[in-house]
Amino acid sequence: MQDWRRTHRCGELRANHIGTVVRLNGWVNSYRGYGQQVFLDLRDRFGITQVVVEATKENPALFQLADGFGREWCLAVEGIVRPRLPGKENPDLITGAIEIEATSIQVLNQCPTPPFEVTEFPGEELAGEDIRLEKRYLDLRRLSLQKTLVLRHTLNRIIREYLSERDFLEVETPLLGKSTPEGARDYLVPSRVHPGSWYALPQSPQLYKQLLMISGYDRYYQIARCLRDEDLRADRQPEFTQLDLEMSFVDQDDVLTMIEGLAQKIFKVCRGVDIALPIRRMSYEEAMLRYGSDKPDTRFGLEISDLSDWAKGTDFRVFKEAIAAGSVVRAIHIAQGASKFSNTDLKPGGKTSEIAVNAGAKGLAWLKYEDNKFLGGIEKFFSADSQAALRDQFGIQNGDLLLLIADKEEVAAQVLGTMRLHLAQVFGLLQGKENSFDLLWLVDFPSFMPDPQGGRYVANHHPFTAPRVADIPLLESDPSKVMARAYDLVINGYEVGGGSIRIHDPAVQAKVFSVLGLTPEQAQEKFGFLLDALKHGAPPHGGIALGLDRWAMILAGTANIRDVIAFPKNQRARDMMTGAPTPVEPKQLKDLGL
Ligand code: ASP
Repeated sequence: MQDWRRTHRCGELRANHIGTVVRLNGWVNSYRGYGQQVFLDLRDRFGITQVVVEATKENPALFQLADGFGREWCLAVEGIVRPRLPGKENPDLITGAIEIEATSIQVLNQCPTPPFEVTEFPGEELAGEDIRLEKRYLDLRRLSLQKTLVLRHTLNRIIREYLSERDFLEVETPLLGKSTPEGARDYLVPSRVHPGSWYALPQSPQLYKQLLMISGYDRYYQIARCLRDEDLRADRQPEFTQLDLEMSFVDQDDVLTMIEGLAQKIFKVCRGVDIALPIRRMSYEEAMLRYGSDKPDTRFGLEISDLSDWAKGTDFRVFKEAIAAGSVVRAIHIAQGASKFSNTDLKPGGKTSEIAVNAGAKGLAWLKYEDNKFLGGIEKFFSADSQAALRDQFGIQNGDLLLLIADKEEVAAQVLGTMRLHLAQVFGLLQGKENSFDLLWLVDFPSFMPDPQGGRYVANHHPFTAPRVADIPLLESDPSKVMARAYDLVINGYEVGGGSIRIHDPAVQAKVFSVLGLTPEQAQEKFGFLLDALKHGAPPHGGIALGLDRWAMILAGTANIRDVIAFPKNQRARDMMTGAPTPVEPKQLKDLGL
């Protein structure tokens, strides 16, 4: 072969190429030998083309060569396009009408037998994730991973087009910067030039985008990498990608409308699904009450009901004491659910009870309704009237089940929220919902939450979120009552975005820092540049960030974030392929003064 470079890609040849001499480059996707013939499926990113190597007297060396190939070898194949034999066409393949009769093959590179199958067959179980992450370059040859990376590219393209058309500027902000608090631990980078000083990798570009608004850029966006040193979960990675944007002279509705248009376009292009606008809004309070979550999956019911008033009137000591201590009693009613759970499952130590306990409950109370009566043990504490009231509230029928929690409001929400998701699994409520996307804005968040570390308050979103104008006086009198001008976007139980209108008045910003326990000196030391910038004619502004990895997961229909990232870390934040993080040379540490 004079020149091994391709004339066509592997997804390109059709019947109208028959008779043409072509050269293809690609990998051996599959390999079948039949006596005097070898069939190869040659693959590149664009498709698969069948190649036939026949044993002929003129060219015995070619057949011998082909007989030694293995899967994933990298080849250059020269040959003539010919029709497939009648009946051998493959309608599933875009090139399925033709095949290449090879006249010359050059091995560009060999490959040992791969440790797992690169070719995917429907329904086949994948190899273990660790080995796939270790040999990610092979794993990425799999069609489904290729598809998700193409999807991500499409997502980025739509975003760039949509926002450019609307006068947003894409601006890059520093990776080496000062800590931007988003409620996680920072990744720190030591400075060689300033021994003992550290950069923080950005948890988000939050402050830079606000500064860009103060500089008058009006509309900014960035597809930004953010880094947060948090414990990993199935939908979390130490570094992740956000669409980060900010707008000047806007109110909440302007930001939400902008994002709704984008969301609609993304779903249309990526999934062919029409999203109805405007997207529904729900208050944080309502979401916590009905779904026990600030990112509710609203594709199924099993809503939570508050039974505190009812519980007060019963003789059940556990409930009465809970209510007296300011706790609540809440329940999920599961129509025809009784037979799915044995009493042993529900009793202390049982599987279902443990789910509640692991989610934070002291215990799980339950009632079945069978043969026109309540069963379960606690029913004896409820008078006939109480029982009738309960039946009426839920329209209880024989075969129903009630799961009840008496606890502090946050705990009851958390436990029943977890239970709700578990029940959805048990009853297969999400089956067949792969194409239903329930988008929801969560609004009306409290600005502050009690600090779990023992301080007074922490910010619910971040410290730069504006309080409702009418609530500004409460910053001094009762911060717990201050509501934020913040919003989260939720799809199918995932938080896929969050943002807020920002504080643009330096005095209000200083007050919020004080609520968060910073002395004026500390606020000055940490955020002096922001307080100063706000004094220089800061415009009203607000924005949002969308978690693009989660968007890609939802659009790709996977529950594993590693499926939508080219080179992800494993559950223990390790890159299985390169081994990072790794120890470094003592000299490097010395240079850094460490
Ligand atoms: N900086 C926020 C975040 O990363 C998003 C925003 O408020 O725009 O969650």
